[in-house]
Amino acid sequence: TVKTRFAPSPTGFLHVGGARTALYSWLYARHLQGEFVLRIEDTDLERSTQEAIDAILEGMQWLGLNWEEGPYYQTQRFDRYNTLIDQLLVEDKAYKCYCSRERLDALREQQMADGVKPRYDGHCRHGEHDHAADAPCVIRFKNPTEGSVVFDDHVRGRIETGNDQLDDLIIRRTDGAPTYNFCVVVDDWDMEITHVVRGEDHINNTPRQINIYQALGAPVPEFAHVSMILGDDGTKLSKRHGAVSVMQYRDDGYLPQALLNYLVRLGWSHGDQEIFSMQEMIELFSLNAIGKSASAFNTDKLLWLNQHYIKTMPASEVAEYLAWHMQDQGIVTDQGPSLADVVTLYAERCHTLKEMAEQSRYLFEDFSELDAAAAKKHLRPVAAEPLALVRSKLAELTDWQAPTIHEQINAAAADLELGMGKVGMPLRVAVTGAGQSPAIDGVIALLSKEQVLARIDRALS
Ligand code: GLU
Repeated sequence: TVKTRFAPSPTGFLHVGGARTALYSWLYARHLQGEFVLRIEDTDLERSTQEAIDAILEGMQWLGLNWEEGPYYQTQRFDRYNTLIDQLLVEDKAYKCYCSRERLDALREQQMADGVKPRYDGHCRHGEHDHAADAPCVIRFKNPTEGSVVFDDHVRGRIETGNDQLDDLIIRRTDGAPTYNFCVVVDDWDMEITHVVRGEDHINNTPRQINIYQALGAPVPEFAHVSMILGDDGTKLSKRHGAVSVMQYRDDGYLPQALLNYLVRLGWSHGDQEIFSMQEMIELFSLNAIGKSASAFNTDKLLWLNQHYIKTMPASEVAEYLAWHMQDQGIVTDQGPSLADVVTLYAERCHTLKEMAEQSRYLFEDFSELDAAAAKKHLRPVAAEPLALVRSKLAELTDWQAPTIHEQINAAAADLELGMGKVGMPLRVAVTGAGQSPAIDGVIALLSKEQVLARIDRALS
């Protein structure tokens, strides 16, 4: 059965690029009813933090990318890596290297001066050198010297690398710590990963890793290297371009459904279909349909998708996400309209839930003052008559619903021989505190009669 994994290094928040890689890996496993593993690659003790681990887990959970196994932590598996390194030493597939920093620096300088790619020259692989048993050394992997490494990447096709391009990789440092390329291989083997989906920044590691699989007698998984995400200026997406952390997108008012739909399309396609439910993504996803070229992040498109989901998901579901934003903005929603009704009222007007929370605050709390410009335009000094009339008509109303409220506003306008706006606008400013809102009858229906009358009174006073 298919088994895939996401293997982030916990050195920062979950980046949208990482999230897309995780999504592709997860979708592939789901598509084939396989399994998905989460592995935290925390071997870099200086750069890994618990905070980053928590942020990654939180991001994965928010996106709904669940895992069958893990999270595994590489720092808990050092014994396993070291056992295998010792085994390779015994089998003469690895060797101790005592080369000093000075020697390696001089070698590199010479190679640079000669115009060749700096690489270890195999000094300790070949020679017999006398060293004290406890002299500091690293362990290097004996990379094959002949032939080439070939793999068929699901995204990039056949890739062949001559072994003469690869040097003897350090697999254990002087301090005894196994290195990244070795740990990844051991993990993917032990965790029985069948398909490695990862960023193309790792593509140069793959031939080296394949040689290690072979030395260990481990089956080589399949690979899919996913292109980078670019900013709108064609450079690698980074903070300079705006939000790059998944949780920042939550904070900014995006739905995970929209972000996932956006990310799946960023580099993968199924005809020209834009909208994919999770079920469709799982049904239609394939590694081979991932595009080779880098894709540019387009915030306008994400905003459009976000609104699409706000409008089309069941309002009660969107309401659960809106609740988070209400709380984030300190808006207490225990009293007042249901959040699902707020979603229905605001879906057409908002691209994000953050906006929705900001704009609907007045439904849950009295505003301290009216928007000055709106009040000046619609309320002062002339609106007393229409407001007073509509107030009395609303006061009589027993069936407090948008259509009946609408009739009362209409009737007030008709009685005064005014256009609807001459009644509706002052009413809007009085009730919402602002010059803009969804249809005023819908707004009023979500407030109680007492609240509405009190707000009109306040505007009239
Ligand atoms: N830990 C690596 C990273 O965060 C991923 C390695 C892999 O997927 O093989 O870039």
